[in-house]
Amino acid sequence: MSTIVTSIFELFKVGPGPSSSHTIGPMKAAFDFLIRINALDDAQVLTASAVEVFLFGSLSATGKGHGTDRAVIAGLLGWTPEGCDPVAFAALLADENERYSVAVHDRRIPITAAHIHFVKGQHDFPFSNTMLLRLMGDDSIIFEQEYYSVGGGFIQRKGEELQSGALSIEPPYPYGTMKELKAQMSAHSLGLDEVILANEMVITGLGRKQIYRRIDDIFDFMHRAVRRGLKSEGTLPGPIRLERKAPGLYQTARALRGNPDSFLVFLNAYSLAASEENAAGRIVVTAPTSGASGVIPGVSYLLKKHYRYDKQKLRSGLLAAAAVGFLVKHNASISGAEMGCMGEVGTAAAMGAAMLAHCAGHPIEVVEAAAEIAIEHHLGMTCDPIGGYVQIPCIERNAMGAVKAYNAYLLASAGSSGKQKISLDNVIRVMRATGLDMSKKYKETSEAGLALSSTEC
Ligand code: SF4
Repeated sequence: MSTIVTSIFELFKVGPGPSSSHTIGPMKAAFDFLIRINALDDAQVLTASAVEVFLFGSLSATGKGHGTDRAVIAGLLGWTPEGCDPVAFAALLADENERYSVAVHDRRIPITAAHIHFVKGQHDFPFSNTMLLRLMGDDSIIFEQEYYSVGGGFIQRKGEELQSGALSIEPPYPYGTMKELKAQMSAHSLGLDEVILANEMVITGLGRKQIYRRIDDIFDFMHRAVRRGLKSEGTLPGPIRLERKAPGLYQTARALRGNPDSFLVFLNAYSLAASEENAAGRIVVTAPTSGASGVIPGVSYLLKKHYRYDKQKLRSGLLAAAAVGFLVKHNASISGAEMGCMGEVGTAAAMGAAMLAHCAGHPIEVVEAAAEIAIEHHLGMTCDPIGGYVQIPCIERNAMGAVKAYNAYLLASAGSSGKQKISLDNVIRVMRATGLDMSKKYKETSEAGLALSSTEC
């Protein structure tokens, strides 16, 4: 089994919503293309007259609703997901005829919505979410690059390995499966968070303090999204005209204090709040994707506000959650276009369950069982967002994912540790097989399921 060398800061990325694969990935790909065309010789770009962008697979099917065209323009303008202003980003292409300029050396190449082509139907590229970017001369292609947006904002260029931190570096505790991870822990008498932290230090070249500071920043972005969402009322962008629910739910939870229901209502409100911010295109953190960016913020906000866990406990919980995200990404996929929603919200729930179990001080067997149970009860879950907007079922699904994470943690910690019949590695294998069997119609194309059943939208 090959070694996991993904950094936690690749898994948890800050950027504008609503979709990591359809917004963050394309923005990064377009930005990468901008760098590449600027590395060409002056003579090569002399005749450059246009940039053409072709979007395939689910990028073409639901890219409009996910803001893929705006993301491409933003990347070509030199904007990055973590640095871009969400308000300026939302304003891109507000006028479909707006002309933007791509800076190539000292030339300014015009680009408009007409240069971005949503290519419908089947294709032969190896990944569903494929982008082809071309720098065009007067009558020929000067340079072209094929990109794959493989989920969670990760991109891959044709012919190259998945972009990841430092592929040539061997972490001190290599693992590719949970079995191998547990063997490392046991051989070196280390806790789960200690193994992940030690590997992260080598993968990123950062020290322990720097990593902790960046984890604190991740929580800061997550919890800011929760707090904004709890206060933001009104309608979400797009034709569905979906009303935000989080502020009302939060008020309900406060009014219920002391009532047993209040705990779940708080958790629902926190998860909905972050998820509604994602749907509004505001800044969120992929966890592991933007579509699933309500689960971990919701769970961790609960741990901070209700359990009063301190920073260090939350940091170790995020490291445990990252371990589960890495395992799914490495051995199946976190992309809705490949696995359906079990790859997104299912993975987020498993990460949340692991975080809860680890923060509560349970041994690795319980952490593993919690993650396994969470995935097991998301198996087969389709991705069929109405109109291609990350709103229905996505927003409530995040709240459901958080509640399932909590219940998976409760079930796992109820005394049967080590007796789980299905291992995390096995359920991830089942997820992969189920995702491969799943019809393309249910993988972020909005061609079936709920996407076709709405009577109101
Ligand atoms: S249904 Fe799930 S996988 Fe699909 S866009 Fe919504 S959150 Fe993402």
